[in-house]
Amino acid sequence: MSEETTATCTWSREDLSVERVATADLPTEWGDFKIAGYRSRTTDEEFIALYKGDLQPEIPTLVRIHSQCLTGDVFGSLKCDCGKQLNRTMQIINEEGRGAIVYQQQEGRGIGILNKIRAYALQDQGADTVEANQLLGLAVDSREYRQCAEILYDLGLCQVRVISNNPLKLQALEEAGLKIVERISIEVDSAQPAARYLKTKKEKMGHLLELKPNVDSSSPFK
Ligand SMILES: [Zn+2]
Repeated sequence: MSEETTATCTWSREDLSVERVATADLPTEWGDFKIAGYRSRTTDEEFIALYKGDLQPEIPTLVRIHSQCLTGDVFGSLKCDCGKQLNRTMQIINEEGRGAIVYQQQEGRGIGILNKIRAYALQDQGADTVEANQLLGLAVDSREYRQCAEILYDLGLCQVRVISNNPLKLQALEEAGLKIVERISIEVDSAQPAARYLKTKKEKMGHLLELKPNVDSSSPFK
């Protein structure tokens, strides 16, 4: 990649704190993708990038940072909408023929799967997502997105159309030097148990969600 094409992004490749380990083809139910494995040079964190098409810095490209949610992504949990968001994003990128997803392996907004199950146990007793983390003495959100932004850059991107409802991710991508040309909100039909979780996300965590009236009115927590 020549210097001119990356002029609007602030890094040089040598400054990246992540490195690509391997890339392979990954045919999926939602289309054919490439999968790349990255590791952090500064921590023991590993990342996955799923991408498709010719990625060029001057072409505004669909991207998503998806945070791992074992319960939602793998088990089809109805307590959140993560799995549906991931699958919907893969469909959108497949239809577009170009795009990238960085899969960040920071389960439960960085608290880990065991603490997440502890938090779910507290939610069974009436706490919401934020209150449960506070009761466990854990940060509500301990994720950092800088390295996810670096991966998008390493894949060849600079101008991005971000599929996200999370203002912290948008801010982090921008601070990292990527140019956000569009935010695409993603709303999937959520099952009833997710309604309260989504309401907490919107009201306590600043997510940019338009909750559907039927979701809102059915919630006992108005
Ligand atoms: Zn989830």
